[in-house]
Amino acid sequence: MRICFATNNRHKVEEVSAALGNSFQLITLEEAGIHEELPETQSTLEGNARQKALHVFERYGISCFADDTGLEVDALGGAPGVYSARYAGPQRKSEDNIILLLKNLEGKAPRTAQFRSVIWLVNPEGEWSFEGIVRGTILTTCRGSGGFGYDPVFMPESASMTLAEMTMDEKNRISHRGMAVRKLAEFLLSR
Ligand code: IMP
Repeated sequence: MRICFATNNRHKVEEVSAALGNSFQLITLEEAGIHEELPETQSTLEGNARQKALHVFERYGISCFADDTGLEVDALGGAPGVYSARYAGPQRKSEDNIILLLKNLEGKAPRTAQFRSVIWLVNPEGEWSFEGIVRGTILTTCRGSGGFGYDPVFMPESASMTLAEMTMDEKNRISHRGMAVRKLAEFLLSR
C-alpha cells in the first residue's frame, strides 16, 4: 500500500518508514513533488497535524497523513508542548532547545515528562487521528547521539537508556511515534 507522509523532517521519515514495515511504501513530500514548508500555526498538536495533512490533501489532491509531536514536561505545566520545535526561538535548533529546557528545569521536581505524537490521516473517505504517548524523565545532561530533537535528555520509563542511545528499532518499539504509527497501520490494513 502506498501512503504519503506530509513532513519535511527526514528523521521522522526514517522512523515512520521503519515502523510501518513492508506492507507499506512511504511516499515523501519530495517524492510527491511538493517542495514547500507546511503551515503549522495551530495551538494544539491535533490542530497542527490536521492543518498539515489537510493542506497537502486540499492543495495537491494527495491522500496523506501528518504527525505533530510535543514534549510535555510536568513541572513546566506541559511546556514546551506544541511549541517544542521553537522553544528557544525561531531557528528551531535542538541544541538550543535542550539548553533552555535544562535551564528551566534547574531546581524543579519531579523531572517527569511525556512525548505525545498525534498522527492525522486524510483521504477522500474522511479524517482520522491516532495518538501515541511515552512517559519518562528528563536527565540533567545529554546522553547518546542517535535520534533527534530532545532524545538525548529523555529516558523512557522502564528503560536505562535515553532515546538517543537506542537504535531506531528500539526507539520505535516504545516511542510515542512508533505507537501512533502502529495504530495507523492497523487501521489502514483493516479496511
Ligand atoms: P514537530 O512535530 O515537527 O512540530 O516536532 C516538534 C519538535 O519536537 C521537533 O522539532 C523536535 O525538537 C521535537 N520532537 C519531535 N519528535 C521527537 C522525537 O521523537 N524525539 C525527540 N524530539 C522530538
